[in-house]
Amino acid sequence: MSTKYIFVTGGVTSSLGKGIICASLGRLLVAQGLKVTIQKLDPYINVDPGTMNPYEHGEVYVTDDGAETDLDLGHYERFLDITTSQSNNVTTGRVYYDVINKERQGAYLGKTVQVIPHITDEIQSHVLKLGQSGDYDIVIIEIGGTVGDIESLPYIEAVRQLRYNVGRSNTLNIHLTLVPYLAAAGELKTKPTQHSVKTLSESGLQPDILVCRSEHHLDESIRRKVAQFCNVDIEDVIESRDARSIYEVPLLMQEEGLDKRVIEKLHLEPTEPKLDNWIGFVEAVCNPSGAIKIALVGKYVEHHDSYKSIVEAFIHAGAVNDCKVEIVWVQSDDLTKKNIGDKLKGVSGVLVAPGFGGRGIDGKLAAVEHARVNDIPFFGICLGMQCAVVEFARDICGWEDANSTEFDEDAEYPIIDIMHDQKNIENMGGTMRLGKYTCKLTPGTKSHEAYGEELIYERHRHRYEVNNNLRYKLTENGMVLSGMNPERDLVEIVEIPEHPWFVGVQFHPELKSTVNNPHALFVDFVKASLKHAKSNEYYEPLKKTHVIPAQKS
Ligand code: GLN
Repeated sequence: MSTKYIFVTGGVTSSLGKGIICASLGRLLVAQGLKVTIQKLDPYINVDPGTMNPYEHGEVYVTDDGAETDLDLGHYERFLDITTSQSNNVTTGRVYYDVINKERQGAYLGKTVQVIPHITDEIQSHVLKLGQSGDYDIVIIEIGGTVGDIESLPYIEAVRQLRYNVGRSNTLNIHLTLVPYLAAAGELKTKPTQHSVKTLSESGLQPDILVCRSEHHLDESIRRKVAQFCNVDIEDVIESRDARSIYEVPLLMQEEGLDKRVIEKLHLEPTEPKLDNWIGFVEAVCNPSGAIKIALVGKYVEHHDSYKSIVEAFIHAGAVNDCKVEIVWVQSDDLTKKNIGDKLKGVSGVLVAPGFGGRGIDGKLAAVEHARVNDIPFFGICLGMQCAVVEFARDICGWEDANSTEFDEDAEYPIIDIMHDQKNIENMGGTMRLGKYTCKLTPGTKSHEAYGEELIYERHRHRYEVNNNLRYKLTENGMVLSGMNPERDLVEIVEIPEHPWFVGVQFHPELKSTVNNPHALFVDFVKASLKHAKSNEYYEPLKKTHVIPAQKS
């Protein structure tokens, strides 16, 4: 079977949830036994999002091969249980970078290099590369931005040519659009959808399926109107209502018949979809027995997308523990030793988040201390782990001037220091310690207990490390280095054994938590927090009321 390509475009407005629709469709196709991957094409000029501020772009998602990518790749991995790579995220910046490099090498044999055909050819080759790997039956391509944007044009043109080149029967265009409700008129309005389909058609693309985001049910007459004006069959008008959880979307899309229409249109053999695990998971997410509060301490907390994978990992771990994790967003800038008791009142776990730079560090150190002293389960991730080490060095080891050289280059005790191979790096993009590294766990530790394995593989994104010349002081005072990178003898996990659950990790476990494989450390952190909540009367029992859509049919 030749690889099929499904292009997903968006119209009317951004933030309609194209990534979730792609991931949901992907999950439904995987449930049919198909091998699926998803690629994100981003129309911005940055080569990758690695140098962007989290306020600007949200979380930077790191893949096993060390690519710094769009956070939608996280959804693809979480929904499909796949690993993605650099090939799954292409930006305009990268496309131009490659084309300009080729031009400098004389690859275009003296031709004038132009958007069409050179940029559009380069885009096509990135898309085809995944298909030609032979690893996938279906590649879903999410095209970032909104049709009509100047910067999206080369992508739309590349898709138009690609559909022609690989044959229409091997490709599909799903267009995601908005059907807004006008309260004053008391009506759903189809005009924005008509306009966006018109814009798409002017660029030579006719959608095969329309997924209509709406806050209200699309009745038969609205669907008929959309179908008629947009030139699609009425069964190809798919309603996408707001869901209680993004994980419910695959089930809602199945109810609407999205997978069925895709299978038919691509001439694939339908099979009975296997979604039992998924349904069980959604059931657990929507019907938890109780709720606990966990503080997420960071400096980008106003912008929750900055911590996307952490939020999702808590949902996965909550489902395993039959409890809802309510995140209490704590701005580290505002946190002091004085107000911490108030700000963290009623929380049963403290997570100190990853981050860069010195802003808010004192607040993070106060949060570590509060959790350590009061036996509240603590999880430090990357910068959060480094803060845990600094706090321990200061307060337990008595090195008052211990610090990370990221915040104080002249610290007397640089317990966290820049890695040797990072010292002379000048370029900011793609130069950190990135991607998958091995970590060897010490038997008898909480980490070893959680993973149940000796060798684990986790993803990194940092320039600083626990200082190997000074780490003796930590172990002398009872901190356990429970995970080490065997190749370079680097500290990857620290623990305090007398504490109920105090774990700091140099890597990013949140990036590897999926619905089918919730991350072991998140699961155990939530378990410990649940125990803390129950013994301190912070646990809030909840009534089980919800019925998930798939159970109705
Ligand atoms: N700023 C720290 C470092 O570079 C931590 C990075 C992070 O939290 N991702 O080592």
